Amino acid sequence: MPGKRVLVLGGTGEARALAALLIAAGFDPVTSLAGVTSSPRLPVGQLRQGGFGGVDGMVAYLAAEHIAAIVDATHPFAAQISRHGHEAAARVQIPYLRLERPAWVSEPGDLWIPVSTIAEAVDALPAGARVLVTIGRKEVGPFFNRANLNGVARMIEPPALDVPAGWSVILERPPFTIESEVALIERIAATQLVTKNAGGDETRAKLIAAREKKIPVIMVQRPAKPSAPAFQRGEDLVPALCRLLSP
Ligand code: NAP
Repeated sequence: MPGKRVLVLGGTGEARALAALLIAAGFDPVTSLAGVTSSPRLPVGQLRQGGFGGVDGMVAYLAAEHIAAIVDATHPFAAQISRHGHEAAARVQIPYLRLERPAWVSEPGDLWIPVSTIAEAVDALPAGARVLVTIGRKEVGPFFNRANLNGVARMIEPPALDVPAGWSVILERPPFTIESEVALIERIAATQLVTKNAGGDETRAKLIAAREKKIPVIMVQRPAKPSAPAFQRGEDLVPALCRLLSP
């Protein structure tokens, strides 16, 4: 597929791996990052950073850069950029495909409480809970704001908010091991874990640790993403893209 330019909406390990696969298949990928992480792990190939300025901005970018297709390899919880990618691709009439890691599925021994939103996750916690919150930096506010909760929030970049008394923040980047996750739950005496159902292996260890320590997991379910051809493996997506873009 000599030189066809593919916009990879990135910010995930899968997007980084996909860029390498696309180059190996002869494509010319440009990976787009939101620019919110200060030292992101970078993919091979071209890179652009920062928002497009909504759908109109992305449409202008697609035309100016002669992009032949969009592969949305963003995080399962990054819903807005996926909507924008889907709509922009439709407007310039190029294919939009999604690379999507499977959601985690509970196993015997798991004590999962599924919820649809962060607000429901906060409400699902009993008064006095000492919570390990692993949902990123943007949405910790409602946990900090509930007076009868305390605990630890783990994230990659510091939160924009003050950390209230009773709470602490751990800045760490995955992958994590089962041993270190068990040790963390024990050290902070967590009574509940809150996580998004991100899927993937890099952050799965906390679920196994919670099962071992018999603590409930408040599991935020994934938001809906636009309907589109979706692949779990880059190795399957690349041949499909080749077929779509063949003359
Ligand atoms: P979001 O809510 O879906 O998007 C918000 C806005 O950020 C978008 O409208 C877009 O701005 C910009 N944006 C997001 N992803 C972009 C990308 N890959 N390239 C260029 N602009 C992008 O996104 P989010 O949940 O904040 O996630 C931001 C990034 O972090 C994504 O790349 C995602 O893959 C990664 N990430 C997210 C999570 C999570 O839990 N949400 C976890 C790990 C990694 P404009 O409208 O100006 O174009």
